[in-house]
Amino acid sequence: SADVVPQAPEDPLFGLMAAYRADNDKNKVDLGIGAYRGDDAKPWVLPVVKKAEEILRNDPNINHEYLPIAGLPDFTSASQKVILGADSSAIQEKRITSLQTISGTGAVHLGALFLTKFYNTSSQKYSIYLSAPTWANHNQIMSNVNLPTTTYPYFSANTKGLDFDGMLSALQEAPEKSIILLHACAHNPTGVDPTDEQWKEIAKVMKQRHLFPFFDCAYQGFASGDLNRDAWAIRYFIDQGFELCIAQSYAKNFGLYGERAGCFHFIAAPNDGAETAKRVGSQLAILQRSEISNPPAYGARIASLVLNDPKLFAEWEANLKTMSGRIMDMRHALRSKLEEMETPGSWKHITEQIGMFSFTGLNEKQVAKLKEESHVYMTKNGRISMAGLNTRNIDYFAKAVDKVVRD
Ligand code: PMP
Repeated sequence: SADVVPQAPEDPLFGLMAAYRADNDKNKVDLGIGAYRGDDAKPWVLPVVKKAEEILRNDPNINHEYLPIAGLPDFTSASQKVILGADSSAIQEKRITSLQTISGTGAVHLGALFLTKFYNTSSQKYSIYLSAPTWANHNQIMSNVNLPTTTYPYFSANTKGLDFDGMLSALQEAPEKSIILLHACAHNPTGVDPTDEQWKEIAKVMKQRHLFPFFDCAYQGFASGDLNRDAWAIRYFIDQGFELCIAQSYAKNFGLYGERAGCFHFIAAPNDGAETAKRVGSQLAILQRSEISNPPAYGARIASLVLNDPKLFAEWEANLKTMSGRIMDMRHALRSKLEEMETPGSWKHITEQIGMFSFTGLNEKQVAKLKEESHVYMTKNGRISMAGLNTRNIDYFAKAVDKVVRD
């Protein structure tokens, strides 16, 4: 009977959101959820998305029929070009197969399910290596599909930067053919990314050890403001001839969070080619059919309109610069305010980290105090969403941090 079902704990992040909403203090600050906010602290519908919505509203051919199992073809093919570059050899050689998914989460899930079924066998089970720390949902997704997980060192608490030596030696010691989950850019939760030179070394070790890269790309264009820059690591790995897969999300870079637009891509090695991609695609379609039948249409239609129209695409790039630029401004402002007040410690990492999140280095006690005394909400690990800061609350936040650090 259902009596045996134990009560599960609340999702920590969504619990934090509820606590924030229930707080009536006028100075309260929400630095929990990873969603972009404008300087007015409100969600921002990208102007280019508004334009696309208008076009869709006026299109007499739009209806509510099912999309194909693999999704909207114009959307998946344009997504390949966004992530790999329009001139990618993998696209030209048709070594790629792509399915539209339930945003990035669905793409990670579909990839994990596929790897459990077809990469692992009854006699040989490879683990997927997750960075320590990583997006908490990675663990749950892997465990749901019985893909065994291990971790590799990633964040150095001392430098608040990358533990590059720790990461490399874990990769060197990983059993051959292990799966390695890599954040393509704007690592969540730390905001710490390898440099290009470090990516090259990571690729070298992974090649030597025959490790299988699984890129999770949730912030392309949102991190640096440049779509190509943020896809650099993925494209480098493809140039090195890896067989790999990619989970691509349009939640952040299009502000399409609730519309669930994303893609899963499998790229076959150059010597395997189109035939492998085709076979893999046929199995992915069966998995997709049994899980969701077919993906949701609205977000993919919006993204597809923008991605396939050069003028709208250029406007999207400008919108990306607005979002990433505001976040970088907030990083600089926060760092200089803390430095001006001579808040104990180094705050360089605030501007060295990139993307939606910053790992501040504040500890659990300080985080709890910030909530109790100053109505500032952030996750226990000291992660703040940079998008929650704005010109009106940044002084207040910096002073609150200064106070808990000195206490
Ligand atoms: N991966 C990472 C690392 C993320 O930070 C996110 C967004 N929080 C996702 C995947 C997927 O998000 P979504 O399903 O909303 O696209």
